[in-house]
Amino acid sequence: MTDIYGILQDTFGKTAFRTHQEEIIQDILGPSKRDLLVLMPTGGGKSLCYQLSAVASPGWTLVISPLIALIWDQIDDLKKHGLEAAYWRSDLTNDERAKIHEGLSTGQMKILYTTPEMMATSLQLTALVKKAYDSETGPTGPAGPAGPAGSTGVTGVPTGGLDRIVIDEAHCVSNWGHEFRESYLELTRLKRHYPGIQLVAFTATATPEVQMDIIRILGLCNSVRVYRQSYVRENLHYLVRSRDRVNMFTTIHRWIRDNDYLRRTGIIYCLSRSDCENTCVELRKKGLSVEYFHAQIPTAQKKQIQQRWIEGKTKIIVATIAFALGINKSNVRFVIHCALPKSIEGYYQETGRAGRDGRTSRCLLLYSRQDKHILQSMARKTVTGTGTGPSLLNPVKRVEDMYTYASDRLDCRVQSLCRYLGENLSYQCGNCDNCTGTNSYGKEKSIIKYVESLRSFFTRHMASHPETLPTKADLLRELSVCAVNLSTADRQRLIYELIVRNYLDIQTGLDSDNNITSQCHWNYGKALDPSLMMLLPDNSVTDYFEIAIRPQTGASV
Ligand SMILES: [Zn+2]
Repeated sequence: MTDIYGILQDTFGKTAFRTHQEEIIQDILGPSKRDLLVLMPTGGGKSLCYQLSAVASPGWTLVISPLIALIWDQIDDLKKHGLEAAYWRSDLTNDERAKIHEGLSTGQMKILYTTPEMMATSLQLTALVKKAYDSETGPTGPAGPAGPAGSTGVTGVPTGGLDRIVIDEAHCVSNWGHEFRESYLELTRLKRHYPGIQLVAFTATATPEVQMDIIRILGLCNSVRVYRQSYVRENLHYLVRSRDRVNMFTTIHRWIRDNDYLRRTGIIYCLSRSDCENTCVELRKKGLSVEYFHAQIPTAQKKQIQQRWIEGKTKIIVATIAFALGINKSNVRFVIHCALPKSIEGYYQETGRAGRDGRTSRCLLLYSRQDKHILQSMARKTVTGTGTGPSLLNPVKRVEDMYTYASDRLDCRVQSLCRYLGENLSYQCGNCDNCTGTNSYGKEKSIIKYVESLRSFFTRHMASHPETLPTKADLLRELSVCAVNLSTADRQRLIYELIVRNYLDIQTGLDSDNNITSQCHWNYGKALDPSLMMLLPDNSVTDYFEIAIRPQTGASV
């Protein structure tokens, strides 16, 4: 077995692995060459997983990432550790290309980075990858021309051969994801062009449906293993407020001042270019150190703005979401959203740029109902006439989910974010606005009747359809009858509450036609607790316990 601890210390100068890193690296290097899908929050240390694996392998690793700033960052970083790596791009000179060829074939260079666009368009890159792949498999089998397979290292790949392909930001491949990119579709062919090649896909945020979609679209196989890390970032404190347009800039300035952030680094996200510029002007009038950043600014100028912020010369950047993607600045103390983000995944990623140094940092969201209407009408325009099926409605639905999150005055914000991303958190963060009671609109109310109704629904369902399990949609339909007084959002919360309390389990999977399915199981082993309570809106019902229960006909209970 390769001494990965030795490489960790000698090459990367670290003394210990972070959560899951060691298991992931062992799995990548393992004899089964298993495909992996790794969900790791930003700052969790995913790059070390593929960099160390590359160093420990006999051949080289191709890393596909859409974030060019991040690619350059990583190459610089690898150089500091004495490792050679390169970025395959369209403006390479002949000399640079020759150097890459030589580095890879002699084993001097262990990692080659590129973008999905280059994978789709560069014939020279395709030829390079193909040659390295063939040298591994050879025309007739696993022994290739560059050396005897199996005798050279853990994976049996000869020097100069292609060990594996790493796909970063893998959620971009899914139409269901929040950042679908056309160029990622090319990656769906990797498994066809290079059968048997090990694929390792990384993403920071993906709902259970998107995870299944990534596995399906990339064709991850060879008993793919999925690693999930908790989405919780304990040092981030979330606060949501409805926005008062007239006083917005005063609100922002006061909040920054009251939190002692006047001389601290922050990011303010706006929806449009003009909002960025306007916010910047208004906050400068209040004496803050601010610059704005958006897609229309020339590249050279963008770099300067970014650099001033990284060096701390400018404290606050007002930006559209393009800003700070792939920038590793650890001491961002606050992230403010001046409008509703387009999706919960996007919001989670953007707020995740705060507090990477582990120190307490704050995330303020200002939103209005109008934001929802604007975003949804924009979303409808972009999906009209393209695609089919549920993905068509997805951007509109994502805005709705984001709005539901923002307007929720009851649930712990961290719990809600985690729930949306498929993680069931049994405790509350204790730091968000809903946990600290700065919003108090709810009351603990008994939910035992709803729970009884759901349990008897399961029993009836199993009696009438013993071959299928109910889906989440079935449960929501049942609740729309038996919990008629609850809002749709509260019905969803009720289901989540039952999962957290171990009454219910929902598994997301793929059926034989590769459709995404949800299957619900009732835990009959757990006795019903008659004092079961849950926080519900104070004003939602007057006759709360007078619930209409559907007449039970036909099925035995
Ligand atoms: Zn909380």
